[in-house]
Amino acid sequence: MRNSYNKSGTGLGKGWIVILLVFMAAIVILGWKAFSHEAPVIKFTTTVKGIGKQTTVAFTVQDNEYALKNISVHIQQGDRHFTVPSSSEIRNAPSPPWWKLWAKRTPSIGDFKAQIGHQSIPDLKEGRATLEIVATNNSWGRFFRGGRGEIKLSLPVRFHPPEVAVLTPQVYVNQGGCDLVLFKVSPGTTESGIQVGTHFFRSWPVKKSLPDTRMCLFAYPYNIDPKTPAQIVARDDAGNQTVSNFNYKVFPQKFRDGKINLSDSFMQRVVPPIMSHNPDMQDQGSLLKNYLMINQRLRLIESQLLVAYSQKTAPEFLWTQVFLRYPNSKVEAHFADYRTYLYHGKVVDHETHLGYDLASTAHAPVPAANNGVVVFAKFFGIYGNAVLIDHGCGLQTLYGHMSSLAVKAGEHVTRGQIIGHSGETGLAGGDHLHFSVLVDGVFVDPLEWWDPHWIHDRITAKLAPYR
Ligand SMILES: [Zn+2]
Repeated sequence: MRNSYNKSGTGLGKGWIVILLVFMAAIVILGWKAFSHEAPVIKFTTTVKGIGKQTTVAFTVQDNEYALKNISVHIQQGDRHFTVPSSSEIRNAPSPPWWKLWAKRTPSIGDFKAQIGHQSIPDLKEGRATLEIVATNNSWGRFFRGGRGEIKLSLPVRFHPPEVAVLTPQVYVNQGGCDLVLFKVSPGTTESGIQVGTHFFRSWPVKKSLPDTRMCLFAYPYNIDPKTPAQIVARDDAGNQTVSNFNYKVFPQKFRDGKINLSDSFMQRVVPPIMSHNPDMQDQGSLLKNYLMINQRLRLIESQLLVAYSQKTAPEFLWTQVFLRYPNSKVEAHFADYRTYLYHGKVVDHETHLGYDLASTAHAPVPAANNGVVVFAKFFGIYGNAVLIDHGCGLQTLYGHMSSLAVKAGEHVTRGQIIGHSGETGLAGGDHLHFSVLVDGVFVDPLEWWDPHWIHDRITAKLAPYR
């Protein structure tokens, strides 16, 4: 009896220990969960720099551990508080059982989008306001109130679009050419420039001390309809936009036609070096097909790269004098020549030549057209060994087909400094210099930049009052 009592007593004791351990483990898990700081992460999907008449605010909320409970957006202005009406969509992943600590769950995602501004909150006033975003999850953290993610942004509130005052009374622009327009924008304007068709030309301060007095060097591209409007566009940090007209006249241009006879010997010389520099280009099976791939596809890729390179520009003009023309040279091709390519008398391609071809003696020294900074000096496909020089405010010059390069990327060059020697690398039929001028990556006629009268009337005279 005594023994069996002892036996059962010991059995009961072990059972209690197991129950106690399980109970303690549950307490630990509950405590761990209740004090958890796991919070949803909020990420903007639109850039919010200010609140305008109707500013789109969009963000996502992600929680890798818990289900999302609530997303709310408020605006605080002084002692007034506005709740932003919105549509938020929460996609919660199914939760594993509470005790299954090791379970890996798929993240819960919330998408939020709202229009914030004068239209949805008529009592909002111009000035400043705080945008507050709060997202909570269903964890037991913060004593069962849930983990909390929060973003607070102090933003300017503007309902009036930027004001633009045009300072250049009349502009004359050639199709394929440029001009400079000066205008003033109201404070708070973050972006302004001239829109011509799909091209946007950025403006720059006329000088550092006058950030709201802007100059915009714009091009009227050679390949757009001369009726395409050119307009000043100004945007502020709250997303408000003004479109302003200015007085201008476009002179349509008649460009030349040209013919290029493709010979096998020419293609045999130019195609392999370009192919070897672009190992991802696939052999098209014939010399002509490879040539056409380079002439069409690589030409297009390189024109897109030049648009990207135009971002590497100084915020001021780095030059003062007229642009230097390659000395003692003969013009072999003009800007915007429309070329027809023939092979054995058959038309195989059409391309536009976007620069000047200038021939001097073989391997003649090539001077920099003006002061600037070398953006690149390298083999550049159809242009062969090429140099791109930045002259500031989106204005750049390109030198192609060189036999040797004498400068490096990042190097400052002065007008007339020798940057290399002429040659016939890339798609060149003989030793010559290909010279292009670009504005924000758009090819323009170099002729204007070589003309001292044009430089004076269109550029220097307009900037003189600010120098
Ligand atoms: Zn050329």
